[in-house]
Amino acid sequence: MKIEKLAKTFRVESGKHFRLKDFDPADTGHWRSKEHAEEALQRGILHTAELQDKLYAQDRWALLLIFQAMDAAGKDGIIKHVMSGINPQGCQVFSFKAPSDLELQHDFLWRTTRCLPERGHIGIFNRSYYEEVLVVRVHPTILTSQKTPPSLIGKHIWQERFEDIRCFEQHMARSGTVIRKFFLNVSKKEQKQRFLARLDEPEKNWKFSAADIRERACWGDYQEAYEEMIANTAAKNAPWYVVPADNKWFTRLVVSAVIVETLNSLDLAYPKVDDAKRKELEAAKKLLVSK
Ligand code: ATP
Ligand code: MG
Repeated sequence: MKIEKLAKTFRVESGKHFRLKDFDPADTGHWRSKEHAEEALQRGILHTAELQDKLYAQDRWALLLIFQAMDAAGKDGIIKHVMSGINPQGCQVFSFKAPSDLELQHDFLWRTTRCLPERGHIGIFNRSYYEEVLVVRVHPTILTSQKTPPSLIGKHIWQERFEDIRCFEQHMARSGTVIRKFFLNVSKKEQKQRFLARLDEPEKNWKFSAADIRERACWGDYQEAYEEMIANTAAKNAPWYVVPADNKWFTRLVVSAVIVETLNSLDLAYPKVDDAKRKELEAAKKLLVSK
Protein backbone atom coordinates (compact mmCIF):
# COMPACT_ATOMS: atom_id res chain seq x y z
CA MET A 1 0.00 0.00 0.00
CA LYS A 2 1.52 3.30 -1.07
CA ILE A 3 1.64 6.14 1.42
CA GLU A 4 -0.78 8.20 -0.72
CA LYS A 5 -3.33 5.41 -0.49
CA LEU A 6 -3.19 5.17 3.29
CA ALA A 7 -5.37 8.22 3.84
CA LYS A 8 -8.09 6.93 1.54
CA THR A 9 -8.10 3.37 2.88
CA PHE A 10 -9.21 4.33 6.35
CA ARG A 11 -11.47 7.27 5.46
CA VAL A 12 -15.18 7.17 6.26
CA GLU A 13 -17.14 10.02 4.70
CA SER A 14 -20.60 8.51 4.76
CA GLY A 15 -22.27 6.57 7.52
CA LYS A 16 -24.07 4.30 5.10
CA HIS A 17 -23.10 0.67 5.74
CA PHE A 18 -20.46 1.68 8.29
CA ARG A 19 -19.51 -1.18 10.61
CA LEU A 20 -16.65 -0.90 13.05
CA LYS A 21 -15.97 -4.61 12.76
CA ASP A 22 -14.94 -4.12 9.13
CA PHE A 23 -11.85 -2.30 10.41
CA ASP A 24 -9.03 -4.41 11.84
CA PRO A 25 -7.09 -2.69 14.67
CA ALA A 26 -4.00 -4.75 13.78
CA ASP A 27 -4.02 -3.86 10.07
CA THR A 28 -0.68 -2.59 8.73
CA GLY A 29 -1.50 -2.66 5.01
CA HIS A 30 1.56 -3.93 3.16
CA TRP A 31 3.89 -2.24 5.59
CA ARG A 32 5.84 -4.95 7.30
CA SER A 33 7.69 -3.23 10.11
CA LYS A 34 8.46 -0.06 11.95
CA GLU A 35 11.81 0.24 10.15
CA HIS A 36 10.05 -0.05 6.81
CA ALA A 37 7.66 2.76 7.73
CA GLU A 38 10.16 5.03 9.47
CA GLU A 39 11.52 6.67 6.33
CA ALA A 40 8.02 7.37 4.98
CA LEU A 41 7.00 8.85 8.33
CA GLN A 42 10.03 11.15 8.39
CA ARG A 43 9.20 12.31 4.85
CA GLY A 44 5.62 12.95 5.94
CA ILE A 45 6.78 15.01 8.90
CA LEU A 46 9.07 17.13 6.70
CA HIS A 47 6.34 17.63 4.15
CA THR A 48 3.86 18.70 6.87
CA ALA A 49 6.32 21.33 8.06
CA GLU A 50 6.69 22.81 4.56
CA LEU A 51 2.95 22.88 4.02
CA GLN A 52 2.29 24.37 7.45
CA ASP A 53 4.59 27.25 6.60
CA LYS A 54 2.47 28.04 3.55
CA LEU A 55 -0.79 27.57 5.48
CA TYR A 56 0.43 30.17 7.96
CA ALA A 57 1.68 32.61 5.31
CA GLN A 58 -1.48 32.34 3.22
CA ASP A 59 -3.68 32.90 6.27
CA ARG A 60 -6.93 31.69 4.71
CA TRP A 61 -7.56 28.11 5.84
CA ALA A 62 -7.47 26.61 9.33
CA LEU A 63 -6.98 22.91 10.00
CA LEU A 64 -8.68 21.17 12.91
CA LEU A 65 -7.53 17.65 13.83
CA ILE A 66 -9.73 15.79 16.30
CA PHE A 67 -8.48 12.69 18.13
CA GLN A 68 -10.84 10.29 19.87
CA ALA A 69 -9.98 6.88 21.29
CA MET A 70 -10.22 4.45 24.14
CA ASP A 71 -7.53 4.85 26.82
CA ALA A 72 -4.01 3.77 25.88
CA ALA A 73 -4.75 3.87 22.16
CA GLY A 74 -1.88 6.32 21.77
CA LYS A 75 -3.43 9.78 21.34
CA ASP A 76 -0.65 11.56 23.21
CA GLY A 77 2.13 9.74 21.34
CA ILE A 78 0.53 10.49 17.99
CA ILE A 79 0.23 14.17 18.74
CA LYS A 80 3.87 14.27 19.89
CA HIS A 81 5.30 12.40 16.91
CA VAL A 82 3.25 13.54 13.98
CA MET A 83 3.50 17.20 14.92
CA SER A 84 7.16 17.01 15.90
CA GLY A 85 8.49 18.90 12.87
CA ILE A 86 6.07 21.79 12.80
CA ASN A 87 6.39 25.36 13.97
CA PRO A 88 4.77 25.65 17.42
CA GLN A 89 3.73 29.22 16.58
CA GLY A 90 1.17 27.95 14.09
CA CYS A 91 -0.21 25.06 16.11
CA GLN A 92 -2.17 24.62 19.33
CA VAL A 93 -3.17 21.50 21.24
CA PHE A 94 -6.15 21.36 23.61
CA SER A 95 -7.14 18.43 25.83
CA PHE A 96 -10.73 18.11 26.99
CA LYS A 97 -11.46 16.28 30.24
CA ALA A 98 -14.62 16.25 32.37
CA PRO A 99 -16.20 19.74 32.04
CA SER A 100 -15.67 22.37 34.74
CA ASP A 101 -18.51 24.20 36.54
CA LEU A 102 -18.07 27.15 34.19
CA GLU A 103 -18.22 24.91 31.13
CA LEU A 104 -21.43 23.29 32.40
CA GLN A 105 -23.02 26.73 32.48
CA HIS A 106 -22.97 26.65 28.70
CA ASP A 107 -24.09 24.51 25.76
CA PHE A 108 -21.99 21.47 24.96
CA LEU A 109 -20.18 23.06 22.01
CA TRP A 110 -19.09 26.14 23.94
CA ARG A 111 -15.81 25.06 25.46
CA THR A 112 -14.39 23.60 22.24
CA THR A 113 -15.61 26.53 20.15
CA ARG A 114 -13.41 28.83 22.24
CA CYS A 115 -10.40 26.75 21.21
CA LEU A 116 -10.96 26.54 17.46
CA PRO A 117 -7.89 27.31 15.35
CA GLU A 118 -7.47 30.72 13.74
CA ARG A 119 -6.92 30.97 9.98
CA GLY A 120 -3.41 29.89 9.09
CA HIS A 121 -3.21 27.63 12.15
CA ILE A 122 -3.47 23.94 12.97
CA GLY A 123 -5.60 23.10 16.00
CA ILE A 124 -5.47 19.72 17.67
CA PHE A 125 -8.22 18.46 19.96
CA ASN A 126 -7.19 15.64 22.28
CA ARG A 127 -10.78 14.49 22.92
CA SER A 128 -13.52 16.94 21.97
CA TYR A 129 -17.28 17.58 21.87
CA TYR A 130 -17.53 13.97 20.69
CA GLU A 131 -17.22 12.95 24.37
CA GLU A 132 -20.80 14.22 24.60
CA VAL A 133 -21.98 11.23 22.54
CA LEU A 134 -19.43 8.78 24.00
CA VAL A 135 -18.68 8.90 27.73
CA VAL A 136 -21.93 10.79 28.37
CA ARG A 137 -23.89 8.17 26.44
CA VAL A 138 -22.16 5.21 28.08
CA HIS A 139 -22.75 6.74 31.54
CA PRO A 140 -26.24 8.32 31.43
CA THR A 141 -25.81 9.71 34.97
CA ILE A 142 -23.40 12.26 33.48
CA LEU A 143 -26.19 13.49 31.24
CA THR A 144 -28.54 14.04 34.16
CA SER A 145 -25.83 15.82 36.15
CA GLN A 146 -25.30 18.31 33.32
CA LYS A 147 -27.51 21.36 33.64
CA THR A 148 -29.66 20.93 30.54
CA PRO A 149 -33.36 21.46 31.44
CA PRO A 150 -34.80 17.94 31.92
CA SER A 151 -37.69 18.62 29.53
CA LEU A 152 -35.10 18.94 26.72
CA ILE A 153 -33.67 15.50 27.35
CA GLY A 154 -35.88 13.15 25.39
CA LYS A 155 -35.43 9.82 23.70
CA HIS A 156 -33.95 11.47 20.61
CA ILE A 157 -31.19 13.24 22.54
CA TRP A 158 -28.32 11.42 20.77
CA GLN A 159 -29.79 11.98 17.30
CA GLU A 160 -30.21 15.63 18.23
CA ARG A 161 -26.60 15.89 19.33
CA PHE A 162 -25.41 14.22 16.11
CA GLU A 163 -27.44 16.72 14.14
CA ASP A 164 -26.02 19.65 16.11
CA ILE A 165 -22.48 18.37 15.52
CA ARG A 166 -23.08 17.81 11.79
CA CYS A 167 -24.45 21.34 11.38
CA PHE A 168 -21.63 22.85 13.43
CA GLU A 169 -18.97 21.06 11.39
CA GLN A 170 -20.62 22.05 8.13
CA HIS A 171 -20.66 25.64 9.26
CA MET A 172 -16.96 25.48 10.15
CA ALA A 173 -16.10 23.84 6.82
CA ARG A 174 -18.00 26.55 4.96
CA SER A 175 -16.00 29.19 6.78
CA GLY A 176 -12.63 27.65 5.87
CA THR A 177 -11.84 25.36 8.78
CA VAL A 178 -10.88 21.98 7.39
CA ILE A 179 -11.85 19.22 9.81
CA ARG A 180 -10.27 15.78 9.98
CA LYS A 181 -11.37 13.34 12.71
CA PHE A 182 -9.36 10.35 13.88
CA PHE A 183 -10.65 7.37 15.79
CA LEU A 184 -7.61 5.43 16.96
CA ASN A 185 -8.96 1.92 16.77
CA VAL A 186 -7.15 -0.18 19.38
CA SER A 187 -8.23 -3.74 20.23
CA LYS A 188 -9.31 -4.82 23.70
CA LYS A 189 -6.42 -7.28 23.76
CA GLU A 190 -3.79 -4.66 22.93
CA GLN A 191 -5.26 -2.25 25.48
CA LYS A 192 -4.78 -4.93 28.13
CA GLN A 193 -1.09 -5.30 27.19
CA ARG A 194 -0.57 -1.54 27.39
CA PHE A 195 -2.31 -1.29 30.78
CA LEU A 196 -0.15 -4.15 32.06
CA ALA A 197 2.95 -2.31 30.87
CA ARG A 198 1.77 0.78 32.75
CA LEU A 199 1.46 -1.31 35.91
CA ASP A 200 4.72 -3.23 35.49
CA GLU A 201 7.16 -0.64 34.21
CA PRO A 202 8.03 2.05 36.79
CA GLU A 203 8.55 4.78 34.18
CA LYS A 204 5.02 4.12 32.88
CA ASN A 205 3.30 3.92 36.29
CA TRP A 206 2.32 7.61 36.13
CA LYS A 207 0.19 6.93 33.08
CA PHE A 208 -2.01 4.45 34.91
CA SER A 209 -5.35 5.53 36.32
CA ALA A 210 -7.87 3.29 38.06
CA ALA A 211 -10.60 5.01 36.05
CA ASP A 212 -9.12 3.43 32.90
CA ILE A 213 -9.99 -0.05 34.20
CA ARG A 214 -13.55 1.05 35.01
CA GLU A 215 -14.00 2.38 31.47
CA ARG A 216 -12.53 -0.83 30.04
CA ALA A 217 -15.37 -2.73 31.72
CA CYS A 218 -17.76 -0.81 29.44
CA TRP A 219 -15.80 -1.79 26.27
CA GLY A 220 -18.84 -3.11 24.39
CA ASP A 221 -20.94 -0.03 25.14
CA TYR A 222 -18.11 2.22 23.97
CA GLN A 223 -17.69 0.28 20.71
CA GLU A 224 -21.40 0.71 20.01
CA ALA A 225 -21.25 4.40 20.85
CA TYR A 226 -18.21 4.88 18.58
CA GLU A 227 -19.89 3.02 15.74
CA GLU A 228 -23.03 5.16 15.97
CA MET A 229 -21.02 8.33 16.35
CA ILE A 230 -19.00 7.66 13.21
CA ALA A 231 -22.02 6.49 11.23
CA ASN A 232 -23.92 9.66 12.13
CA THR A 233 -21.20 12.27 11.81
CA ALA A 234 -19.03 11.08 8.92
CA ALA A 235 -19.29 13.63 6.12
CA LYS A 236 -17.42 14.54 2.98
CA ASN A 237 -16.24 17.81 4.46
CA ALA A 238 -15.61 16.33 7.93
CA PRO A 239 -14.56 12.70 7.43
CA TRP A 240 -13.60 10.20 10.10
CA TYR A 241 -10.46 8.10 9.78
CA VAL A 242 -10.68 4.75 11.54
CA VAL A 243 -6.97 4.29 12.13
CA PRO A 244 -5.61 0.87 13.14
CA ALA A 245 -3.97 1.45 16.51
CA ASP A 246 -2.50 -1.88 17.64
CA ASN A 247 0.84 -0.96 16.07
CA LYS A 248 1.85 2.55 17.02
CA TRP A 249 4.27 2.96 14.12
CA PHE A 250 1.44 2.28 11.65
CA THR A 251 -1.00 4.61 13.42
CA ARG A 252 1.56 7.41 13.10
CA LEU A 253 2.14 6.70 9.44
CA VAL A 254 -1.57 6.82 8.62
CA VAL A 255 -2.23 10.01 10.58
CA SER A 256 0.76 11.67 8.96
CA ALA A 257 -0.44 10.60 5.50
CA VAL A 258 -3.88 12.10 6.16
CA ILE A 259 -2.42 15.41 7.29
CA VAL A 260 -0.15 15.66 4.24
CA GLU A 261 -2.97 14.71 1.88
CA THR A 262 -5.31 17.23 3.46
CA LEU A 263 -2.85 20.12 3.35
CA ASN A 264 -1.88 19.20 -0.22
CA SER A 265 -5.52 19.37 -1.28
CA LEU A 266 -5.76 23.03 -0.23
CA ASP A 267 -3.53 24.42 -2.97
CA LEU A 268 -1.47 26.33 -0.46
CA ALA A 269 0.92 28.97 -1.74
CA TYR A 270 2.86 31.91 -0.38
CA PRO A 271 0.99 35.17 -0.98
CA LYS A 272 1.85 36.83 -4.30
CA VAL A 273 3.75 40.08 -4.12
CA ASP A 274 1.85 42.80 -6.01
CA ASP A 275 3.43 45.82 -7.69
CA ALA A 276 2.96 48.13 -4.73
CA LYS A 277 4.55 45.60 -2.38
CA ARG A 278 7.42 44.97 -4.81
CA LYS A 279 8.14 48.69 -4.90
CA GLU A 280 8.10 48.75 -1.10
CA LEU A 281 10.58 45.87 -0.99
CA GLU A 282 12.86 47.54 -3.52
CA ALA A 283 12.80 50.82 -1.60
CA ALA A 284 13.60 49.01 1.64
CA LYS A 285 16.53 47.25 0.03
CA LYS A 286 17.90 50.52 -1.39
CA LEU A 287 17.74 52.10 2.03
CA LEU A 288 19.45 49.12 3.67
CA VAL A 289 22.36 48.92 1.25
CA SER A 290 22.88 52.70 1.19
CA LYS A 291 23.75 52.93 4.89
P1 ATP B 1 -4.34 10.34 29.37
O1 ATP B 1 -5.02 9.25 30.14
O2 ATP B 1 -3.54 9.86 28.22
O3 ATP B 1 -3.61 11.31 30.22
P2 ATP B 1 -6.99 11.22 28.78
O4 ATP B 1 -7.49 12.00 27.61
O5 ATP B 1 -7.49 9.82 28.92
O6 ATP B 1 -5.43 11.24 28.66
P3 ATP B 1 -7.83 11.57 31.45
O7 ATP B 1 -7.69 12.67 32.44
O8 ATP B 1 -7.35 10.22 31.79
O9 ATP B 1 -7.23 12.05 30.07
O10 ATP B 1 -9.36 11.40 31.08
C1 ATP B 1 -10.18 12.44 30.74
C2 ATP B 1 -11.57 11.94 31.01
O11 ATP B 1 -12.47 13.02 30.82
C3 ATP B 1 -11.99 10.82 30.08
O12 ATP B 1 -12.46 9.72 30.80
C4 ATP B 1 -13.10 11.45 29.27
O13 ATP B 1 -14.10 10.53 28.90
C5 ATP B 1 -13.62 12.49 30.24
N1 ATP B 1 -14.40 13.54 29.57
C6 ATP B 1 -14.04 14.26 28.50
N2 ATP B 1 -15.05 15.06 28.09
C7 ATP B 1 -16.08 14.81 28.91
C8 ATP B 1 -17.41 15.30 29.00
N3 ATP B 1 -17.87 16.19 28.14
N4 ATP B 1 -18.19 14.82 29.97
C9 ATP B 1 -17.74 13.91 30.84
N5 ATP B 1 -16.50 13.41 30.82
C10 ATP B 1 -15.67 13.84 29.87
MG1 MG C 1 -6.92 8.51 30.51
